[in-house]
Amino acid sequence: VDEFDLIKTYFVPLARDFPGSLNLTDDAAILDVPPGRELVVTTDAITEGIHFTGQEDAALIARKLLRVNLSDLAAMGATPVAYFLALMLPKFTNAAWIKNFAEGLQEDQRQFGIHLAGGDTTSTKGTLSFSITAIGSVAKGQALKRSTAKDGDDIYVSGVLGDAALGLACIEKKITHPAQVFLEDRYYIPQPRIRLGERLHSIATAAMDVSDGILQDMGHICEASGLGATLECDHLPLSHAAAGLQNIPDFWHYVATGGDDYELLFTAPVSQAMDIQRLAAELKLPLNNIGKMHSGHQVQLLDKSGKPMQFVKKGFRHFG
Ligand SMILES: [Mg+2]
Repeated sequence: VDEFDLIKTYFVPLARDFPGSLNLTDDAAILDVPPGRELVVTTDAITEGIHFTGQEDAALIARKLLRVNLSDLAAMGATPVAYFLALMLPKFTNAAWIKNFAEGLQEDQRQFGIHLAGGDTTSTKGTLSFSITAIGSVAKGQALKRSTAKDGDDIYVSGVLGDAALGLACIEKKITHPAQVFLEDRYYIPQPRIRLGERLHSIATAAMDVSDGILQDMGHICEASGLGATLECDHLPLSHAAAGLQNIPDFWHYVATGGDDYELLFTAPVSQAMDIQRLAAELKLPLNNIGKMHSGHQVQLLDKSGKPMQFVKKGFRHFG
C-alpha cells in the first residue's frame, strides 16, 4: 500500500467535514476556538498485546482507540471537536485491513460528533500500535479536574464496573459465562460518557474516567485532592452478567482492580444527590453513590461486613 494513496482513499473522507483539516493536504491543521471556550487535549496510545490481542477486527481496534480518548475528554467535561491519528503499521498491511480500520473510525465519528483533523502513518518492524490525540472544548474555567474533591463529598460512578475485566478473562479463557459475548463486547467497545461529562460541571467537584480499576483510579483523585476515600463493595454497580459470577475466585479483584471500565468517577456535595438522580434518569445511565471522601490519604474498599478488603494489586500498571 502506498502511503499517499492510503491517506487519500481511507483517511481524507474522515476529515472532509472538518474545514480546519484542510483535507489532510497541508503540513498541519488549523483549529478555531470559539469565544468563551478553551481546548482540552489528550493523547492515548494502544498497543498489540496490551490493549488489544491483535486477533480482533480492525474496526474494533479503531473504535476502542478513539473511544479511550473520548473517555478522557468526557472525564474533563469536554465536548469532542477533532482528533489526530498516528498509525504504526507493519509493512505489507493489506488494504482491506486499513479500510476496515477507517470504517470503524467513521462509525464512531458519527456517533460522537468528532472529526479527523490530521495525523501520520509510518511503518514498523514491531507490533501494531496506534495513537490518537483528541481535542475537545469546554466553557472557560469549567473543565473537571481530579484535584478539587472536598472532604465529605459523596463518590459516584456511572454505569457498571467489572464487565470489561471479566470479558477479557473470557477472551483469555480464564473463565466461562453464558453471557460471554456481552462481557467480551464490553471489553472491545467501551462507552465514553461524553453526555454525562458535559453535564457535570455544575454538579461534580472532581472527576476522572476509570480506566485502570476503580481502586487505583480513586487513589488518583485522593492524591490530587489531598484526601482519603472509603468505598463500599455492596454499592459497586454490577451488570446482570457480572453479578452472575460473584462466586468465582477473585471476583472483587476483577470488579475493583480490573481495567477498561471507562466509566466516570466523580465526587459531589451531598446536596447534589437529587440532581444527580434526575440526571441519571434523563441520560438513562445509572449514577451510583459508592462511598465518601474524608480526611486522610488512603482508599479503602469495605466488604459486606464493613471490613477493609485487601488486594495484591490495586489496578493495572504498565511498568509494575
Ligand atoms: Mg483517563
